[in-house]
Amino acid sequence: MSVESKHKCLTCGRVFPEGQGIVIKIAGETLEFHSSKCFAKFARELLSRLPQDEIKGYIKKIREEYEEVLEQKRKLKSKKIA
Ligand SMILES: [Zn+2]
Repeated sequence: MSVESKHKCLTCGRVFPEGQGIVIKIAGETLEFHSSKCFAKFARELLSRLPQDEIKGYIKKIREEYEEVLEQKRKLKSKKIA
């Protein structure tokens, strides 16, 4: 197995194969997590350190997008039932 096809969890150090875990490329960095639990730990830490005023707008936007998707799903469901 080549080096590229293996990942090392940033949070706990566990090595895991390509196709498993969570691998995110952002800001020129590759973030690797073997489980969603490890990712959540990192994400929580990152979010708490980000400038709160700056991320507020993004949080609002993403929340709105999710709410829209949920609303569409809800409508689709009620259409199927009717
Ligand atoms: Zn891990």
